[in-house]
Amino acid sequence: MNSHRRIEGRLVIATHNPGKLTEMRDLLAPYGIEAISAGELGLGEPDETGTTFQANARIKAEAAAQAAKLPAFADDSGLAIDALGGQPGIHSARWAGPAKDFNAAMARIERLLQERGATEPARRGAHFVSALCVAWPDGHCEEVEARADGTWVWPPRGTAGFGYDPAFLPNGHARTFGEMTADEKHGLPPLGMGLSHRARAFVKLAERCLVRS
Ligand code: IMP
Repeated sequence: MNSHRRIEGRLVIATHNPGKLTEMRDLLAPYGIEAISAGELGLGEPDETGTTFQANARIKAEAAAQAAKLPAFADDSGLAIDALGGQPGIHSARWAGPAKDFNAAMARIERLLQERGATEPARRGAHFVSALCVAWPDGHCEEVEARADGTWVWPPRGTAGFGYDPAFLPNGHARTFGEMTADEKHGLPPLGMGLSHRARAFVKLAERCLVRS
């Protein structure tokens, strides 16, 4: 029996991050979903007290679903550097500080890699993770997670995207996420099967819960 629930009509996007909001709106547009942002509804941001990406996505989606009385969609994501034991991981946003200074966060990662002698590309493995959760006001949840594997590169390259995009070279590509257009970064069907972590997670969610309009 398929117990997955279909996403229809209006959906709150539980993020206050403008980069993610744009990406989520683009991803949902082909499915005829009316996406309203948590910011537009004046919803607060819950504390991300979970210890995993999935737990934090669920905290955000459930808080928004309860407050708005509508289904809500949240993403929790981040960058894990192998040689740093998976850091910054769930703290990826926090490493940029209150000023959201990702140049400083990228410089910190580079400094730590240098300190550990991880200078060769082979020792600079990294992956982005995206956990997605859609929560309904009655407590039902749909959850998926996916990753994009690649290499940390220095110096950062490109001005597209956001966050750590300029220092991340996805496997099998010659350009960083920061040098790619949004369409290339996501690599969604019909052109591809998903390149970015968020697009890959979204493809999984769409297969379960969305119908192309
Ligand atoms: P959170 O999910 O709101 O806790 O924030 C995740 C953080 O991870 C973002 O602020 C970015 O720094 C980073 N991040 C997540 N996804 C991406 C991406 O696609 N490109 C670049 N940075 C990302």
